[in-house]
Parts: sequence; C-alpha cells; structure tokens
Amino acid sequence: MTSFKFDNSYANLPEAFCRSCSPTAVAAPELISLNTSLATELGLDLHGLDAGALARIFSGNQLLTGSQPVATVYAGHQFGGFNPQLGDGRAILLGEIVDIHGRRRDVQLKGAGRTPYSRGGDGRSPLGPVIREYLISEAMHALGVPTTRALAAVVSGENVYRDEALPGAILTRVAASHIRVGTFEFFAARGDMENLRRLADYVIDRHYPAARDSDNPYLGLLNAVTDNQVALIAQWMSIGFIHGVMNTDNVLVSGETVDYGPCAFMDAYHPQTVFSSIDRRGRYAYQMQPAICQWNMARFAESLVPLLDDQQDNALAMATEVIRSMMPRYEQAWLAHMRAKLGLYTEQSSDKQLVDDLLAAMDASEVDFTLLFRSLCDAVENPLQAAAPAQLFASPRDWLGWAERWAARLAAETQYASERAQRMRSINPAVIPRNHRVQQAIDKATQSGDFSDFERLKRVLATPYEDHPADDPWLGPPPAGEKVCQTFCGT
Ligand code: AMP
Ligand code: MG
Repeated sequence: MTSFKFDNSYANLPEAFCRSCSPTAVAAPELISLNTSLATELGLDLHGLDAGALARIFSGNQLLTGSQPVATVYAGHQFGGFNPQLGDGRAILLGEIVDIHGRRRDVQLKGAGRTPYSRGGDGRSPLGPVIREYLISEAMHALGVPTTRALAAVVSGENVYRDEALPGAILTRVAASHIRVGTFEFFAARGDMENLRRLADYVIDRHYPAARDSDNPYLGLLNAVTDNQVALIAQWMSIGFIHGVMNTDNVLVSGETVDYGPCAFMDAYHPQTVFSSIDRRGRYAYQMQPAICQWNMARFAESLVPLLDDQQDNALAMATEVIRSMMPRYEQAWLAHMRAKLGLYTEQSSDKQLVDDLLAAMDASEVDFTLLFRSLCDAVENPLQAAAPAQLFASPRDWLGWAERWAARLAAETQYASERAQRMRSINPAVIPRNHRVQQAIDKATQSGDFSDFERLKRVLATPYEDHPADDPWLGPPPAGEKVCQTFCGT
C-alpha cells in the first residue's frame, strides 16, 4: 500500500480539536491534474502509480498508510456575525507531511464527503470551485504570495446538486496548517481556557517558535500573526487580488491565503470593486481589505486576551496597542510595494502622493491595473515606449502630467534603466488569472469535459513575471462583452 510518510500532530490533539472521519468513496474518480513539482517538494513517492491509482488516492477512495483522517472544528465571524460552531464540512485532513525543506504541511481533501460538521451540506464540491481554487492558488504561489497550494484535482464521476446537477470534484490542498482565527474563537467563545492555551502553544511551536523566547509568548504570537497578515494583505493589494470572503474562519494564522471561493483579480482599477455574489454590501471590496484584516485581527486579539495577562485591563491594553499599530504598519508595507512597482529604490515623503495620484487617474480612466504597471517596465527602459502607458488612459493628458512627475522622481536615483526595468518586471506581473478566462476554463470543463483552457491557464500562470507574446491577447483584459462581474462561492 502506498505510503506518504505522514507525521501527524493535529489529529493527536484532544478530541475537542477534531473528529476522526474518513472520506466517502466516489463512483469513478479520474485525475484531472497532479502538481508534480509540489509532489516532489513534499517528498511523495509516486513511482509506479498510474493515473487510476493516483485518482483513487486523491479522491479518498484509497486510504493511505499513516493517514489519520480528521475533520477539524472552528468557529468564525461571517460577514460580521459570530457563528460559534463551524468546522470542516467538506474537507478532511488526511495528515501532515514534513517536506524536503523540513516544513510541516497539511494534506487535506476538499469535497471528499460528509463530516461531523457538514450540517445540512453534502460534503461535496462541484468541479467549478475546484478548478478556480487550483488555478488561482497556484497563480498566487507563482506570484510569490503566501498561499495554500493545490496538489491534485480529480473528478468524482458523480453529480452534485446545487441549482442544477454539476460534475463533482475533489481538490487536494496543501497548507502550512489549516488553523484559523476561527479556531481560536471556537475555544475562546466557550471559555475553554485549557484548550485555548493548548492551541496557542501548538501554533507557537508549529509556526512561530521565536515567540516562545519573547517575554510574553502569547503577545509574541499576536504580533507575529498580525505582522504576517499585514504583509499578506499588502501583497494582495499590490497585485489587485480580491479575496471575496474575508470571514475569520477563512483567515489562517500561518499567514497563508486560504479559501478561494468567490475571489478574483481586478481588471480595471476601481477601489470599490466587489465580485462576490453574496457580498451585497461590499464588506469585502478591494479597498476594504486592509480595514477588514484589522477587524479580523481584533477578533484574534480578543480571543487571546485571557492568555495575555492575568489582569484583564493589562491584557486589553496590550491587545489594543497591537491592533492600533496595524494600519501604520500596513501603510508602510503597501507603500514599499507601490514604490517597487514604480521602480523606485529610495524613499521620499512625496511618494505616497505620487502613487495616490496615479491610482486616482487610473480609476477615472478605468485603466487596467496589471497592464498599466507592466507597461511602466518598458517605459523606464525604452524611450520609444515612454508614451505607451498613455494609450491606456481616456486621454493622453491624464497620463502625461503624472509621467513628468514620475520621470523627475526617477531622475533622483542613479540606477541603470535596464536594471530598474528588470526589477520592475519581477514585481509587476505580465499575467494574472483573469476572471473571464478562469470562468471560461470552468465552463468548458463543466459543460463538455474540455480541460484545454484549464491546462493553458495553468501553464502560463506558472511564470507570471515573463511575457507570453504567443498567448496575447488571450491573457489581456476582457473585451466589453466578456466581462465577468460576479463570482460565486459554489458551495
Ligand atoms: P466556506 O464558504 O468554504 O468558507 O465554507 C463555510 C462553511 O460551510 C465551512 O465550515 C464549510 O465546511 C461549510 N460548507 C461549505 N460547503 C459545504 C458543503 N457542500 N457541505 C458541507 N459543508 C459545507
Ligand atoms: Mg472557509
């Protein structure tokens, strides 16, 4: 029997953390995709396994030696309201593997059948959300954003029923861990201090061992988690990523992006952009993400209050201080990204205004976020391309005034243009998973079992900082008739 060298720790925590739960076999699993480079990173030995054997493994039909499948419990604030008990309703943690770099990783099946936390749900996933998560999580990884990964996808050979019958599928997700802010909230809300402390200690040992050495390890944990969230959201903002459901059960304390439901990348720059069909009030709009991140971290801090100090006043003061400091930390991290996107190496106090003015002009002209920043790379290097970004604006005048200020600012630095352009090309992607192409890949796969667009996207998204002239303009912004304005959770 296949062995994956599992080394499980979460499944061996007390019963309050998770329940044993095996995947429910599916009728006719077929492999859609295997991420071989990730498999290598995990040290998986897949020699001698044909597509059929892989499909049985990554559907959960064949249980692996050493796996201790569990569904984990958590709570969460969803769209602002607290739900004291959620949990893996359609995800089963197979176990943990220590990868070839010595990092502990969770291996989880998503859509593998009902669990003790499924409530009314079927524990299954349609093919569409599996394709979306596979493409976008792998694109995020290639873009350099901390994220859960997609190891494999299989179709189940069974239908799942939503508004209509849809082909079912299962995703194998790999994560630094699946511990959420909502996992802390679960124990805090029940006043289960013993397990709250146990969870905090577990997270410190697994993710933030340096916090153990600080005067107050739990305050160290809060600082480390908020640092990672600040860095993560600044990265999202710098590439135009909109998560769509930033509920606290969708925030991993490891700092990885998780839960690619109704997420999407912005095409034309507009700060109020919302894609999610269930986000009617725009709570999780692009521009809201930093403030929502702070709100989510406030919920995390509240959960930790009982551990921070015996005196509640002291604990609250500490927690408040950390949360208050988040916005200045975020502004700094964001500005660092934006400076780099503009090719700047040094800092000047007027830089924020320069960035804000560019974004305002882009908003007014509905300029494509990705194309504009990529066009700046050529503009700094090649005088013949200097005016190219102007074409993206409604009127060249909207660009030229700003371009003069930018040129003057660049002139204050001594970098060679070629060196500057090269660095800019490693920061401003040429390719993002455009929503209309992701939707097209989903539609083709769902309606006719045609995975060609899925494969094509997977291939180009693996190298997002390279130009792909052969695939232009397929990779460009949507023509007016092809814009996809809404995305769906598909649960
Ligand atoms: P999500 O929107 O994926 O973050 O899911 C929110 C909650 O609903 C989680 O606790 C999920 O496990 C649960 N859930 C979502 N879809 C299903 C499903 N098809 N069956 C059972 N539980 C589900
Ligand atoms: Mg979720």
